[in-house]
This record gives sequence, structure tokens and C-alpha cells, in this order.
Amino acid sequence: MQGICETIPALSAEKFVYDFDEPSNGGRELLGGKGIGLAEMTQLGVPVPAGFTITTDACRAYMSIGKALPDGLEEEVDRHLAALEERTGKHFGDASDPLLVSVRSGAAISMPGMMDTILNLGLDDEAVTGLARATGNERFANDSYRRLIQMYGEVVEGIDAHRFEQALTDLKHGRGAAHDVDLSAADLAGLIQTYEQIYEDEAGRAFPQDAREQLTRAVRAVFDSWDAPRAQVYRRTYDIPDDLGTAVNVVQMVFGNKGEESGTGVAFTRDPSTGEQGLYGEFLANAQGEDVVAGIRTPQPLAQMELLETMRSLEQHYRDMQDIEFTVEDNELFLLQTRSAKRTAAAAVKAAVDMVDEELISREEAIARIDPQQLDQLLHPMLDPTANWEVAAKGLNASPGAASGRIVLDADTAEQRGKAGEKVILVRWETTPDDIHGLIHAAGVLTAHGGMTSHAAVVARGMGKPCVAGCEALSIDFDARTIALQGQTLSEGDVLTIDGSTGAVIVGEVPLVPPRVNDDLETVLGWGDEHRRLHVRANADTPEDAAKAREFGAQGIGLCRTEHMFMAEERLPVVREMILAANEEGRRAALDKLLPMQQGDFEAIFEAMAGLPVTIRLLDPPLHEFLPPLEQATDERMRRRITQLQEANPMLGTRGCRLGLQWPEIYEMQVRAIIRAARAVEERTGEAPLVEIMHPLVAFEEELRRLRDLTVHVAAEEAPEVSYLCGTMIELPRACIRADEIAQQADFFSFGTNDLTQTALGFSRDDAEGKFLTHYLEDGVLEKNPFETLDVGGVGDLMRIAVERGRATKPQLKLGICGEHGGEPKSVAFCHELGLDYVSCSPYRVPLARLAAAQAALADAGAPAYAATGG
Ligand code: PEP
Ligand code: MG
Repeated sequence: MQGICETIPALSAEKFVYDFDEPSNGGRELLGGKGIGLAEMTQLGVPVPAGFTITTDACRAYMSIGKALPDGLEEEVDRHLAALEERTGKHFGDASDPLLVSVRSGAAISMPGMMDTILNLGLDDEAVTGLARATGNERFANDSYRRLIQMYGEVVEGIDAHRFEQALTDLKHGRGAAHDVDLSAADLAGLIQTYEQIYEDEAGRAFPQDAREQLTRAVRAVFDSWDAPRAQVYRRTYDIPDDLGTAVNVVQMVFGNKGEESGTGVAFTRDPSTGEQGLYGEFLANAQGEDVVAGIRTPQPLAQMELLETMRSLEQHYRDMQDIEFTVEDNELFLLQTRSAKRTAAAAVKAAVDMVDEELISREEAIARIDPQQLDQLLHPMLDPTANWEVAAKGLNASPGAASGRIVLDADTAEQRGKAGEKVILVRWETTPDDIHGLIHAAGVLTAHGGMTSHAAVVARGMGKPCVAGCEALSIDFDARTIALQGQTLSEGDVLTIDGSTGAVIVGEVPLVPPRVNDDLETVLGWGDEHRRLHVRANADTPEDAAKAREFGAQGIGLCRTEHMFMAEERLPVVREMILAANEEGRRAALDKLLPMQQGDFEAIFEAMAGLPVTIRLLDPPLHEFLPPLEQATDERMRRRITQLQEANPMLGTRGCRLGLQWPEIYEMQVRAIIRAARAVEERTGEAPLVEIMHPLVAFEEELRRLRDLTVHVAAEEAPEVSYLCGTMIELPRACIRADEIAQQADFFSFGTNDLTQTALGFSRDDAEGKFLTHYLEDGVLEKNPFETLDVGGVGDLMRIAVERGRATKPQLKLGICGEHGGEPKSVAFCHELGLDYVSCSPYRVPLARLAAAQAALADAGAPAYAATGG
């Protein structure tokens, strides 16, 4: 084995192919996840079949020259193939005892099931007989060949898999066979003929009988699969750059379909759903790799085997949870792949804490290992334990969380109805990578077939969606658009609930309850809190939200939107009375009625947040939002007022501080209510609330100067002893530019990046998403939705200017963010870099923001930032 690489001189300046035991400096980027795993396992002495990797450089070169193989690649492959022949003592294309290979894709970042694999390459009509003779196993030889024709047909010629599957199903019916393994050698020989006919009908040419031609076309097909629509959708969903390309691994075949002493499986070093220690996986006897992953048969649990030792050593080596693919050929174990395991958030957190206990990783590494975005999963709703429901059927608890929704039976419908805002459960026999667009828009997935590592399970876990897989009591009648669950028939559109944490399937809707932070998560977040510099507050408008936020570790309220208090059913009539009043006197009379209600709200929130700061924003939305549409006006006066208040661009109209300056009595009432509430709470509890009064949508210093005057004046009138801060939101480009002047009037700035994004980009926050912005994202004009992830280059720069100028005027100026970006990990990292004091986000995102802030601080100190791992 040693020295083989020296016998292969690189002829072209660029080297595109590496043997598994040949060193390269390119790592994962060059060899892809699968390739680097095979190379490292080979070097570790783990049993791996021999083979070589065609690099991602070759794929990129192929793409860049209009899908042509780069010069020298074919010759290089020939040389590596010759070395493989020498090593195995077999010849590729030999009719008597052929060398067979698999061709497997493998990008630098794992994209499970998204790209293509072909097994048993090198067989043809003659070689299949040779293989049967050489192995003394005709059934195995025929089985391998029919699989090759199907996989090659699908991947290289784009033939619809259903054509082959239908032929297989028909044959099984004809023979009364329950499983593929019940078919005889002669049955399979007949199937080969049928498959060859299908191939010829569909491709317009015969199945190629030349092994080398098979290989070249297979390599090209794997390169091409990088650009397949499903791979593009996956990359967009997971933010994977389009220009990485995939490597191609050519691996000597080892056979799991040789008989009962052979088989194939996948295994994890820990449970990918819970993180629980112990070998975990699935195994199919007498089968080939794709059968397990594709969920074609429901596999059996793993028996203890020599695997345990190997997996333990892989985990020690990689210092991370591994996911392996293996084959047993005549009782001999081979590993085909190892990669960092995709896992649920619960598993990620538990494994990270356990690995610190096991002294495998440090606390800092544990913090960096967890994807903050994924934490969302842990904060998924669960079935209300106090509700009544009946489990109609059970499947595997493949991805945690519960969801109710209407049954849809195909991915296109799921996408369409999901996009329209409907909650749908995608119900399938099994899912395939082509269902990805439906999975993205479904609330949950239910499959009749497949195990914990089936496509549906893996993808749903990655997306943090509930999934129940392998529900055997489920049958689907696609033509009638109905499903049967344990004999009960339901139609597409009926409501179903699934619980991916237990595997329960329930007919009808079940109430869901919010989740709680578990101990392991609390532990990691606690470690993170020791490192982070940013405080994390919550956006909360009610005492309930405030309490929830506190439970999740919020260090105060960064935004309490008071308009929601005005919308409550019993208050709206009073608010309308105020808006409809003919004069100031009438308005004040209505406001007097609102004041005690607002005061009550504030008292409850101050108490829930005792000891922590609470930022209350004065009324922000345009007043017409409180009135009904014109056609629903109840009288002439209302109709006239609605017409008067109508604006062509209300978001740029009479709202925010403009409202407060035009009708100061509204803000006066609100300040009065805040100050009275603070005084009342202090008197009652002995603890003074930390009050911050915030004015929205300020553009000019003069606006804030007047509103500050109003605030100071009212507060002094009410209770001079109550202390508070008075500040502003920074939501307009002018406010950023003139932050030096505005800071003269402010104790704090809070970046309202929702409006700042809207106004800096000129993108209407109400109209962009679902319209041109969706097109921009699909077409690649923009990589990310700027309303989700801060536009660092534009909006971020405005913020930077505001920070610099604001602090130049007032070094102690308190700075925070309360737009949606305050709970988005990349934006949190940017806020850390800017030197803000806090981020504020919805209560459920508080844990995520805590983790992201800790990771940002650690990255600042030189530790690795969170990086998605995977092979
Ligand atoms: C903002 O504009 O970022 C903000 C937090 O305010 P709202 O979303 O209420 O306009
Ligand atoms: Mg705003």
C-alpha cells in the first residue's frame, strides 16, 4: 500500500485526484467531507475500502469551462484506477472477476441525500456472469447489476425512479415476494432484462457495456448534481455557498448484499435525537447502502458488533459525535463514511455538556459547538399534557416537537399551501430529496416508511421540524387523496397532529404548550454568560411575556410596544373615542379613561421585571390602524375621520414621535401612567423599577428636545422622586448621521433596525417580503433577507456612524438594538463588534441571543466561532 502515490507522477500542473492514503494540503475544502473522512480513516487504520478522490477543484474547473472535464483529469483517473487495480488484484471492466467501484459525491459541507451516488459500477452483461462465477453467488451478482442499471439510469440519464420501482413491485407481486431479498437469482435475471429495456426506452440508447465509459459519465453526473434544483434549494436554505462544488469519491465496492452474513447500515456514536450516549443506528442484512438511507425497507436496530470500538476511536479522534455509514461483507466490517453527526438541538446540547464531563472538549468548545439558530428547536411547542387526546397510531420519534396541520400528500401542495400561511403536515410514504421544497414549508412530516436515518428524519431534524417516520399503521391512497390510520380514513385537508418527540400521531388538533429550557441548555448558557459582554433583553408587551423572558434569562425589557395595549378589546372603543374626538378637550377626556389601564399594565410589567431595566416606547403606529376600514365605519363622523387620517404611505407618515408632537396629550398620558406605575410599584415592593422612556422615529434633534421637555415636565409634575432615563429609537438614516446632535437630548439609543432597514434600503417592510424581495433572494440578487439578517454593509454602517457620533457627544450613552435582528445570531455578532450594550429580541429567542453573544465574545478572544460541521 505504501509508496503507491510515488508511482503516480502528476503530469499536469494541477492535481485533481488523490488516493485515500495520499496526503493533501487541501483538507475538507479540496476533498469534500466524505473524501477527507475516508482519507483520515485510512490514515487512522480504520478498515476502509481502497479508492481515490477527484477534488472539488476538478468540479469547479468542470463548471467554469462549460461542463467539460478539465485537461488531464481523464489521464489522472486512469492512473489512479490502475493503482487501484494493482492493489485489489482485479481489473476494471474484466469479464471474469471484475473490479467494481462506487462513485459517491461529497461536498465540503454535508448535504445529506442531495447529490448522487452510484454503486456497482463496472458491471455489464458479461461481467455479471463473471462476478456470479467468481463469488459463487449468482443472486448477488444479478442483484448488484440491476441496482447499477437503476442508479445509473436515474443519475446519469435522469430516468424517473418510479419506472424501475414499479417493475420491481410488479415482479414481487407476481412472485408473491414480500421483500426484495425473497426474489431468486432467476427473478433478478429477468428484472435485469426489464431494467435494460426501461433504460433503452427512456435514454434512447442501450445501457453502456464499457466500464470506463460508465465511470466517466458517472463522474460528470455527480458534478452535474451539484447544480440540481434540489441541491440549490438545500444550499439556499442552509446558507451554503454555490461555488464550493463537490468532490467525487471512487471507492472499491464492498458488498452488503452477499447474503445473510453481509449487510449495510448507518450508526451514530450518540443518539442524534436526544444526545444520549451509546451506539445508535440501523442495519439491514443482505442489502446495499442506499436501502437504509433512502428508507426503502424499515431497518432493524443495530446488534452490538465490533463497530463499537471503531466508533469510540473515531469520536476520540474527531472529538465530536460521528455519523458513519458501514458495510459488512461476509462478516468483515468496512467503514464508508464518517462525519460530524447532524443532530437535534437537544442532542447537540446534551452531547456538548457530556463531552465536557468526559474531558473530551473544553467548556468554550462546547459553547462554540451549538448552532444558536438551531436552539429554536428546543423552544418548540409541545402537546399540552393537560389536554385530552387519543393516539391513533405510532411511528418513530424522528425529530422532536409537535405540530398540528392539514394533511397534504405531495411536496408541491405543501409548498403552495404552506407559503399561503396555512399549517400543513406533509404525509408521504417516504420522502426523497425532491420533496425538499415541501418540507421547507410544512409544519411537520409524517411518513409510513423509513427509519430514524431516512431522508425525512434527517432533513426534518436539520430544519428543526417535527417528524414521525416509519408509521406502519399509515397507508396512503394517492389517487383518492386519502390516508388510512389504523383503519380510520382521512382526506387531504383534514387536520392531524404529530408529536415528533414521542412518535404519536393524533387525528384532529391538539392544543400545544410552550417549551421550557432544560438543564443541559441552562448549563451551556450559564457557561456562555461568563464570557458574553452583550446583555440580552426581551421585547415584551405583557406581564406574561415579561415573565417568560425572565425565565429564559432576559436581563430586562428592551422594547415594550404600548400600542398593543391600546388594541385590547375593551380598550379599543376608548382609543377610538380619543381619535374621533373633535378637539383636545375631547381627546383628553378619553385619555383620562385610558390612563389607569396603561398604569395597570406598566405596574404588572415592572413587577415581573423587578430589578431589571424596562424600556417603554411611546405610541408609534399611525392612528388609522386603530380605526376600522372605511366601509365598516359606523357613522358619518367616523367615516370623515378615517378619510382625514388616510395616507398614501402611512409608514412614512404621521406616526412615531410625529404623532406625539402633533397630539402631545397622548404622550403626556403615557408618561404620566409610567411614572405613576413606577411610584406605585416602589411603594408596594420597596424596589424602584428601572424605567426607560423611549421616543420612536426621531430624525431631528429638535423633535427629541421637545419630547424630552414634555417627558421631564410631566414626570416632575407627577413624582419628582421617580428616576428614569429618556432616550430614542434610532430608526432613520438621518438619525444615524446626526446622532451627535440627537445624543445631546438622549440618555440612550435603541436601534430599531426594522424601520432602519426599511428606510435605509427603501424596502417597504409590509410589501417587500413575498414580492420582489422573494424574487431577489431566489434570483441571487441578495443572499439574505435584510429584514432577518442585518445588512451589515449598509444598515450596519449607518449604525456604526451613529455609535461613533453618539458616543463622541456622550461617552456614557447607553446603546441597544430592539429590531428583529436582535435575535439573529449573525446580527448579534455584529452588535457585539459595534460595542452595543445590549440586544433585545422576542422572549423565545433570548436563549439563542445569549449563546450567540457568548460565541461572539469568545470569537473576539480568539476562540473559534460557531462553525457548521459535517461531512
Ligand atoms: C423597529 O423599527 O426596529 C422596531 C423595533 O419598531 P417596530 O417594529 O415596532 O416598528
Ligand atoms: Mg420601528
